[in-house]
Amino acid sequence: MSRGLMQYVVVGHGTAGQTAAAVLKKVDPDSEVYVVERGKHVSIHPCALPMVLGGRLPLDAVVETAPKGRVNVILRSEAKLIDRKRKILVFERDGETQEIPYDRLILATGLKPIFPKVRGMDLEGVGTVWDVESVERLLKMLGNKIVVVGGSATGIEVAAELARTGREVTLIEAMEQLMPGKVDPPIASTVAKALTDMGVRIRLKTPMTELEGSGGRLKYVVTPAGRIEADTAIVVIGARPNSDLAAKSGLEIGTTGAVKVNDYLFTADPHILAAGDVAEVKDFVTEKPTATGLASTALVQGRIAAENAAGGKIRYRGALSPYLIPVGDRWFGGVGISASKAEKLGIEYRAFRFAGSDLPRYIEGRDRFIVWMVTDPEGRLLGAQVFGRRGVRDRITFLTAAIYAGFRAQDIRLMEFAYQPEVCDLLDPVAVAAEGMARKYRLI
Ligand SMILES: Cc1cc2nc3c(=O)[nH]c(=O)nc-3n(C[C@H](O)[C@H](O)[C@H](O)COP(=O)(O)OP(=O)(O)OC[C@H]3O[C@@H](n4cnc5c(N)ncnc54)[C@H](O)[C@@H]3O)c2cc1C
Repeated sequence: MSRGLMQYVVVGHGTAGQTAAAVLKKVDPDSEVYVVERGKHVSIHPCALPMVLGGRLPLDAVVETAPKGRVNVILRSEAKLIDRKRKILVFERDGETQEIPYDRLILATGLKPIFPKVRGMDLEGVGTVWDVESVERLLKMLGNKIVVVGGSATGIEVAAELARTGREVTLIEAMEQLMPGKVDPPIASTVAKALTDMGVRIRLKTPMTELEGSGGRLKYVVTPAGRIEADTAIVVIGARPNSDLAAKSGLEIGTTGAVKVNDYLFTADPHILAAGDVAEVKDFVTEKPTATGLASTALVQGRIAAENAAGGKIRYRGALSPYLIPVGDRWFGGVGISASKAEKLGIEYRAFRFAGSDLPRYIEGRDRFIVWMVTDPEGRLLGAQVFGRRGVRDRITFLTAAIYAGFRAQDIRLMEFAYQPEVCDLLDPVAVAAEGMARKYRLI
């Protein structure tokens, strides 16, 4: 270790950690960058795990064997404590306690999955989709009668992936709609219909109360509405910030359970930053504390944390959290806040739904395209959700930029959108939705 040079330690080599480590090496090439990672893989791609489960990708395709830059990744090492007085990270490797000093430390420990405390979680046939190990285990016991527990983003994606393979899939969700709070009812019901068309049976307002087995193997998923026969239950009900290390080290934990950071991603300790799912940041739209669960958001935060750790002064403007979820050959996604979230937070909003098609009338294979827009009373975009077969990501990307830029529906309706009949219609659905919004609420 070279003395006099900066030494950075990153905890966790997921999306935020690996981005931070690679950026640190770029902005401060002479520094030493160490990453302490609990797992046995250099890194993995969790977002591709549903594809592995559906048999469309081999498991080893989602595992990386080399880091992105000239960084030292110390694997199978669990960080146990940040000794902030001595500026030393204490970690455990092969049963041995080791220490590493830092000038700046970036916490990027992500989330940890939540499992319900119900009977039967230990039965053979019960699993989750979280990391390489959990999917490897599931693949070994995957049967034909599957119950996916949780209408979360992962739940929806996994149900669609498995339905594609011809298995009998039931998706159960405790609340009255899929992805409650995140997705508004008009899009949630469209997604539910797309899943149903693929053969997925959806049971809403149906919490899992117990898992019943026979001879140690799963037989039924029990709900208040009755038992559902199953040989496999995939439990994906959510996750919470993995902030135990931070809490144990005396760092402040926010209302979301994540580590509190300022606009520059520094904790109250001037030598420690946090990035990714473990960081409690500001929501771009509401300016309220939020903890996200997205690789897209973690990547940006990892970059900013690294630049600021190395002396930069980049302000994080807040999380917009754009997401994209496949449902068979359809897609849906969203950005910003939903109408239900605005309602919950007491934010005045207007909402408008446009349903049109993705291609011109004369092009074969055209399909439905839905845009749901949420604005403030003056028409300023707060959020949007989109469903369709083609071009969903394009629109989400545009809408993300539109929120960053403070565009109003009145501005969007007059914008030019690139057009070619093979890929889109001349009237872009986003512009049409903006026009409808502006007219309905007399903004023009
Ligand atoms: C099945 C699935 C599908 C997903 N699909 C998408 C998607 O399509 N799009 C999207 O944007 N996001 C998706 N996500 C979410 C995305 O993967 C995460 O939001 C993102 O990885 C967060 O990055 P992170 O660096 O904050 O945390 P992570 O990537 O989870 O990394 C945290 C790392 O810290 C390590 N760690 C934790 N504690 C310690 C410790 N004490 N000591 C040492 N190491 C530790 C962990 O082993 C892990 O490697 C998906 C997630 C899952 C599980």
